[in-house]
Amino acid sequence: MARYTGPSCKLCRREGKKLFLKGDRCLSDKCAVARRATVPGQHGAGRKTVKEYGMQLREKQTARRYYGVQEKQFHHYYEVADSREGIAGENLLSILERRLDNVVYRMGMAASRKEARQLVRHAHFLLNGKKVDIPSIIVKVGDVITVREKSMASEKIKALVETIEGVAVPKWIDMDKKNITAKIVALPERDDVDFPFEEQLIIELYSK
Ligand code: SF4
Repeated sequence: MARYTGPSCKLCRREGKKLFLKGDRCLSDKCAVARRATVPGQHGAGRKTVKEYGMQLREKQTARRYYGVQEKQFHHYYEVADSREGIAGENLLSILERRLDNVVYRMGMAASRKEARQLVRHAHFLLNGKKVDIPSIIVKVGDVITVREKSMASEKIKALVETIEGVAVPKWIDMDKKNITAKIVALPERDDVDFPFEEQLIIELYSK
């Protein structure tokens, strides 16, 4: 399935939640959810009853859209999460959090995950000293992510570096803001995910 290229705000309105897909705009009063929190479409305002399957589906779509992952890959993440020890829902969130594009976003090196994905694709980062351009790489404890020296000359990267000081980096990432270097020091835990997912609903949906 092709990647969605339509308006990001429509996705948030469909889920009835801010998914923070557009950087600074999401925190401003221009946010479409803040201005018009109805489901898009002619009958959007009238849709009310959501049954069990609907709730599970919406939670899965919310998580998928929040992290910018396509269905096939998301389902694969579920299978991996389910096959590992521990709680499948928490395993799933841990995998999603450790995608390289999400880590770049968490480092404060992008205003949104979409921007982070684009920066990774343009090979602005090194993973353990090697150039990478695959946003879906899952990082491990001990991995080190840095900006390529050449990329530090880019106006885009320079502008992002200037804003990095005020960014709250989660505790599983040890961030050296001076040298723009992030080390993964632990696996992300449930409490590290700052979005109110009901991951159990996603697991229930896929386990049917
Ligand atoms: Fe979603 Fe951001 Fe658009 Fe608000 S501004 S609707 S949070 S993408």
